[in-house]
Amino acid sequence: MKKTIYDYNFASKKVLLRVDFNVPINNGRITSDVRMQAELPTIKYLLSQQAKIIICSHLGRPDGIPNKKYSLKPVFEHLKELLPNTKIYFCPETVGENAKKMADNLKDGEILLLENLRFEKGEEENSEEMVAALSSLADIFVFDAFGTSHRKHASTYGVAKKLPSAMGLLVQKEVESFDKILASPEKPFVAILGGAKISDKIDVIKNLLSKVDTVLIGGGMCFTFLKAIKGNVGASLVDDEKLDFCYDIIKTAINKKIKIILPVDFVCSENIYDEKGAEIYKLDKIPDDKMGLDIGPKTIKLFKKHIKKARTIFWNGPMGVYEKDMFKNGTKSVAELIAKNKRCTSVVGGGDVVSAVEEFGFEENFSHISTGGGASLKLMEGKELPAISVLSDK
Ligand code: AMP
Repeated sequence: MKKTIYDYNFASKKVLLRVDFNVPINNGRITSDVRMQAELPTIKYLLSQQAKIIICSHLGRPDGIPNKKYSLKPVFEHLKELLPNTKIYFCPETVGENAKKMADNLKDGEILLLENLRFEKGEEENSEEMVAALSSLADIFVFDAFGTSHRKHASTYGVAKKLPSAMGLLVQKEVESFDKILASPEKPFVAILGGAKISDKIDVIKNLLSKVDTVLIGGGMCFTFLKAIKGNVGASLVDDEKLDFCYDIIKTAINKKIKIILPVDFVCSENIYDEKGAEIYKLDKIPDDKMGLDIGPKTIKLFKKHIKKARTIFWNGPMGVYEKDMFKNGTKSVAELIAKNKRCTSVVGGGDVVSAVEEFGFEENFSHISTGGGASLKLMEGKELPAISVLSDK
């Protein structure tokens, strides 16, 4: 078990808090502050403990070179609005003499926000100099940027080796939610997989075969499975290099008595832009010049039977091209069916499904919506996250 923020007394301590303030910014204005709002409970707890908080984050991909476009200054202005009763300072450098002086001058219950971590080359390289510079700023390290936890960067991994450390409240919720579904899932455990790229999910599928009872497969990736068992998929997306893998997965599932449920009908069109020409076809009846771009009504009915009975659900990847009105019904219906199952623990991971669930307004009905696409897939592959494994043990 890793230490949490409740395992330390932070009074008068300098705390380096690694957050994910990688917010969308347009013309110097933050267009969504969801990530900042989500971090407030950890910040407020540390403030209530009279800590001196030094916040660090990345923003965009400046690739180790300072660039005004990626400055955290707008984040600083907004943080002051979110915490009007707290004294907050901004350091125009990430590390160095000035940052050290400003950190040392902090009083209890004050905050210092450092400039973008990725303005320093040593951040992504996890260089010794960057680790030393960052860890010299504080007494304790709190890691609360789950989306970066599969990366060994100076601010995610390096500092945790130098300072006593803990998970922040956001990371704690992510870890507990995934532990719950991976270590002791209530059965039946149903995994729902979709999206376009099968290659990203190979290790997830392999690992899930030792945990779940049923796998529902939709999205573009279902066609490689269907073609592997000699289905006619018209012009749908197929990854020919993965046909053998899909065939083996189906065989393994049969041997293990795990159900793999594939779609039986589709909303098809000539391409993703041809929404007007969309028609429903059964599997094997898809014309050669049409591609499946969403699961059809019979498939939704079929998936419903399994979603209704599930006590644990993990979902990654949309059921169709949900970005287009004509092809979003499958993803929306699956989100709605999960939302209606009040007795199941439901965990969603991966950027596309998270945005779909939020767009359709079902986020309150899920047990956990993971903020880290890549990191959540790594956990589902059964792998460790370096930035979490390295944190202090209880
Ligand atoms: P991924 O990054 O692999 O999770 O894929 C997400 C993308 O898959 C989304 O942008 C969807 O538009 C796309 N997608 C979902 N279903 C299909 C499909 N049947 N054909 C092509 N692309 C799809």
